Amino acid sequence: MENIDVLRKCTILQSETLQEYILETSAYPREHEQLKEIRETTIQKYGFRSIMQVPVDEGLFLSMLLKIINAKKALELGVFTGYSLLTTALALPDDGKVTAIDPDREAYETGLPLIRKAGVEHKINFINSNALSVLDEMLDNGGEHGMEYFDFAFVDADKPNYINYHKRLMKIVKIGGLIAYDNTLWNGSVAVDEEDAHEFLKDSRRAIMDFNSYLASDPHIEISQISIGDGVTLCRRIR
Ligand code: SAH
Ligand code: CA
Repeated sequence: MENIDVLRKCTILQSETLQEYILETSAYPREHEQLKEIRETTIQKYGFRSIMQVPVDEGLFLSMLLKIINAKKALELGVFTGYSLLTTALALPDDGKVTAIDPDREAYETGLPLIRKAGVEHKINFINSNALSVLDEMLDNGGEHGMEYFDFAFVDADKPNYINYHKRLMKIVKIGGLIAYDNTLWNGSVAVDEEDAHEFLKDSRRAIMDFNSYLASDPHIEISQISIGDGVTLCRRIR
């Protein structure tokens, strides 16, 4: 199978028609105008890579979560062109803030005009860097970006570092706060034998599997594996 065939279906739902039904019936009609514009601009500019954007139904889910927990301070690791970032900024109150980290400034700037058009740029603090070094700086407390306690974190950067991010987030996200890890079902490959997994997915498959096992036995959190998009694991920090 070509990469594009594996990933055209950027959902772990086995029935593509059911996914279409969800999108057509409840997701697309509720998608914010500028999110739709970011999605389309990203497809035009990045082609195949545009599948990295969270799907529309997942975006609505994240937005709902942020509002339910009354999040004011959010963190995002892995921004790309800003689909999940704009989703977050729109869901936060006017005095809310999202700190967003990605070494790819060009991708961020692709979506930035649409973030401005949506009127929420003032809620965003973009840091053009690797997530790990910024988190370590935050933990140093005296660091350039200071120590902050977040209500919510969305993790969607390099998968092999998820465990490293998690260990740091256990000190940076407040107790009672929520972390959402994206792509934790890795196109379903976590549940097939290594030799049957598509070549394209193999690299991070093992990292995601190790990460899922790690979370399952971590006493600092409560977890819920959500079967939306490519799989989202919700973690609520309890200690
Ligand atoms: N959340 C985005 C998609 C993110 S794609 C959306 O919904 O559109 C993954 C992103 O992680 C890429 O933009 C890549 O540049 C970024 N990334 C890769 N390594 C990283 C690192 N070490 N720290 C932070 N971001 C990283
Ligand atoms: Ca993702």
